[in-house]
Amino acid sequence: MRRLTDQQVDQIARRLAGNISGRGKGAASVSPLPRVGAGTPPGGTPCGGYVCAPVTAAGTVPSTTRTGDGVYATVDDCVQAATIAFHNLSEATLAKRTEIIAAIRSAMLKESENLARYVLQETGFGRYDHKVIKNRLVAEKTPGTEALRPETATGDHGLTLMEWAPFGVIGAITPTTNPTSTIICNTIGMVAAGNSVVFNVHPGAVECSMATVRLLNQVITSVGGPANLITAVGKPTIESAGELMHHPGVNLLVVTGGPGVVAAAMKSGKRAVGAGPGNPPVVVDETADIKKAGADIVFGAGFDNNIICVDEKEVFVVESVADDLVKAMVSAGAYLFDQVDMRRLEKEIFQENHGPRAHGVINKDLVGKDPAWIMARIGVKIADDTKLLIAEVAEDHPLVWTEQLMPVIPIVRVPDVNRGIALAREAEHGFGHSASMHSRNIDALSRMARVMNTSIFVKNGPIVSGLGAGGEGHTSFTIASPTGEGLTGPLSFSRQRRCVMVDHFRIV
Ligand code: NAD
Repeated sequence: MRRLTDQQVDQIARRLAGNISGRGKGAASVSPLPRVGAGTPPGGTPCGGYVCAPVTAAGTVPSTTRTGDGVYATVDDCVQAATIAFHNLSEATLAKRTEIIAAIRSAMLKESENLARYVLQETGFGRYDHKVIKNRLVAEKTPGTEALRPETATGDHGLTLMEWAPFGVIGAITPTTNPTSTIICNTIGMVAAGNSVVFNVHPGAVECSMATVRLLNQVITSVGGPANLITAVGKPTIESAGELMHHPGVNLLVVTGGPGVVAAAMKSGKRAVGAGPGNPPVVVDETADIKKAGADIVFGAGFDNNIICVDEKEVFVVESVADDLVKAMVSAGAYLFDQVDMRRLEKEIFQENHGPRAHGVINKDLVGKDPAWIMARIGVKIADDTKLLIAEVAEDHPLVWTEQLMPVIPIVRVPDVNRGIALAREAEHGFGHSASMHSRNIDALSRMARVMNTSIFVKNGPIVSGLGAGGEGHTSFTIASPTGEGLTGPLSFSRQRRCVMVDHFRIV
């Protein structure tokens, strides 16, 4: 990896300081920002010419979080800077906002590989190639200002105009499983709607998240946008998340994570967009294209080693096609393990096993790890390029009822499609998040879509296609099922306002 020279770091710091102080590029008498990597081992990570915090030779990311470029020490400082940025953005034209979003898309596409590498180095979760796909997906398919279509009503009593207005400063809390893609996605949607943002990111993904925030600010100011439109608490904690949730300067909360953070946001007394956990089931019936179903499930459940909330987490297959489905999954790159290995793996997977039909507590060491790495924990050597681990289990096995976030997928045989749908509904726990079915029976497909009542329901494809990856439609990495926005976008971060002209301005 290329290392920036001290001189280059100073030049970048001077340029950034010029942007932050509003004096434009190349301002002469500004104090350089603290140098990244000073006193640290060689190997400061270059992010396409911008400065990311360094990664040591051992591959670990030291905590060298510095302030500047939108990163502040306290929630108060973040809110203050984001408030000024919000007012500056409000003064700018809609065309400028569109230009900012276009610049973010193009820069994040360029940085998608660097950021993917960075996330993997810091969190140890998932797969590099899939993280690149995630970063590109949000850069390309998160809706921007084009989503803010005004509405009108005209009639005998004149003209009413309805427009989408920003909330102001948004407090956003992001997960460790998709840190950079959630920040990029939230930023595009929130800024397109005219807001500024304060991020309190997951402490386990702080360095890659800060690198993303810095890049976003550099890009925004490089096209003349306000400094500090995106801010972040440099050393985030649960306490700082709580402070953000109750800060009087924050107008809207958007939280992405497990049940704890969603419940906390909803209790805060502020308006909250809550994107919570899932446990997406897939049902395969006897009419499905079994070969394709097997390949789709292996791809979907193996995507980024199953850490995405939409990834398939358990399979219910009609008995008459179960053997064929398992064969199809193995041909598509899955490894089928037996009951003896299952008993040994259970001890590794669960930190707390709460027994039949109950959500266990997973062992975080296994989250997002490669299948071969997981099997090695029990001394079994399998091919390094194995995409997924699968095992047949009884319907009450805790793996069916737990959001495991690792590429180990239970398969349950059911006598018929109705039993499959009923179990799928139960195993989803009413989260209303995601589900899928492989079938050519339109009655069964329609019934399951209705019964599941999920934000995303995919028919005959991997569930990631519901995020626009291999399926139609826009993307989001904040899927707000508990609060009802579904795949969030600029409209989820906007208030509708109306202006009424009585008796005039109708042209017909
Ligand atoms: P997590 O809940 O541990 O953390 C998410 C964020 O919330 C972090 O920033 C964390 O610091 C903060 N947090 C956690 N508990 C909190 C509390 N009580 N008060 C204030 N802040 C709190 O989740 P994670 O492990 O980072 O991510 C995985 C989980 O997130 C899974 O359950 C997954 O399904 C879910 N998720 C959902 C979506 C979605 O769009 N619905 C997207 C990604 C992840």
